[in-house]
Amino acid sequence: MDIIIKSPKRELIFPGVSLANLTTFRVGGLAQWYASPRNWQELETVLNWSNRQDLPLTFLGAGSNLLIGDRGIAGLVLSTRYWRYPLRFDQEKTQITVAGGEPIPRLAWLAAKRGWQGLEWAVGIPGTVGGAVVMNAGAQGGAIADCLVEVKVISPNGELEVLSAEMLNYGYRHSCLQQGKKLVVEATFQLQPGCSQEVMLTTNQNLQKRRNSQPYDRPNCGSVFRNPPNYAAGWLIEQTGLKGYQIGQAQVAQRHANFILNCGGATALEIMELISYVQTKVKEQWAIALYPEVKFLGDF
Ligand SMILES: Cc1cc2nc3c(=O)[nH]c(=O)nc-3n(C[C@H](O)[C@H](O)[C@H](O)COP(=O)(O)OP(=O)(O)OC[C@H]3O[C@@H](n4cnc5c(N)ncnc54)[C@H](O)[C@@H]3O)c2cc1C
Repeated sequence: MDIIIKSPKRELIFPGVSLANLTTFRVGGLAQWYASPRNWQELETVLNWSNRQDLPLTFLGAGSNLLIGDRGIAGLVLSTRYWRYPLRFDQEKTQITVAGGEPIPRLAWLAAKRGWQGLEWAVGIPGTVGGAVVMNAGAQGGAIADCLVEVKVISPNGELEVLSAEMLNYGYRHSCLQQGKKLVVEATFQLQPGCSQEVMLTTNQNLQKRRNSQPYDRPNCGSVFRNPPNYAAGWLIEQTGLKGYQIGQAQVAQRHANFILNCGGATALEIMELISYVQTKVKEQWAIALYPEVKFLGDF
C-alpha cells in the first residue's frame, strides 16, 4: 500500500489527501487514497487497483452536499472533478449528453445559450452532473428527475450499464444511486427547444433570486435538512429561534436558517453537534422530525 501508481503521464493515486479543500463546507479529514481520473484508461487503472487492494470505494463530485468526518475516509476516494469530455448535442431530439464530472451550472448555461429549456433552475447549484443525478438535485420547481433520460454508470468491477431515469427510483432528493455502488460517468437530458433570449433571461433571474436569498460568503453545503411534508425546514428552524445559534465555529445562518456556515475552522464534529441540536429543538417545539439532506461520509 505504499506505492503511488503512475499513469503514463502523471501520478494517479495519492495517499493521505486532505478532503477539506474538496468540499464546499471546507471540512473533512484525509482520504486514505485519492484519485481523480481524467479519461477511461485512468479510470480503469484506478478501479483495477482498488479491486486488487480490496479497498472500500467512495465517490466524490464537487463535494457540495457532503459533511466528511474529521478522521477522514478509509479506502479509495474517487473524485470526478476532472472527469469531463465535450458535451454532445442531439439537435433533432433536443438532448444533451454530458460527462458525470461536468459542473451542472455550466451545463445549464450552455443549454440556455442554445435556447433549450429545462435546466434554468440548475444554474446556482454548485455540484457536478453526477452528484446532481444521484441527489435528484432541484430548485425553483425543477429537478433532475424531470429531464433525465438515462445515465451511464460503471461498477467497481468495471462493468458499464445504461440505466433509464425510471430505473433510478427517483423521489424528493432521492435515487437508488445513493447506495454508492455505481459511479455515474455520463448522463443524457431531454430539453425543449425555445428562444435563447428568453431561456437566458429566466436562467439569469433564477441565479439572482438565489444570490439574494442564500448566504454565499461562508463555506456551507446548501440546505442541511430536507423539507418535511407541508413545511419549509428553514422556516421551522427560524421559528424555533435558532438563527445565529453557534457551536464552536459552526453557525445556523442568519440569512437562511436551513444553512449551516463554517465560520472558519469548524470541525465536522461541531457541525454534527449543531445538526443534532437543531433536530432536537425543532422536535421539542413542533413535534416534527428533520432529516438531513447533506450526506455524511467517513469517520467522525
Ligand atoms: C451554496 C449551495 C447551494 C445549493 N443549492 C442546492 C439546491 O438548490 N438544490 C439542491 O438539490 N442542492 C443544492 N445544493 C447541494 C448540492 O450542490 C447538490 O446536492 C449537488 O447535486 C451535489 O453534487 P456534487 O457533485 O457536489 O456531489 P457531492 O456532494 O460530491 O456528492 C453527493 C453524493 O453523491 C455521490 N456522488 C457524487 N458524484 C457521483 C457520481 N459521479 N457517481 C456516483 N455517486 C456520486 C457522493 O458519493 C455523495 O453521496 C447546494 C449546495 C451549496 C453549497
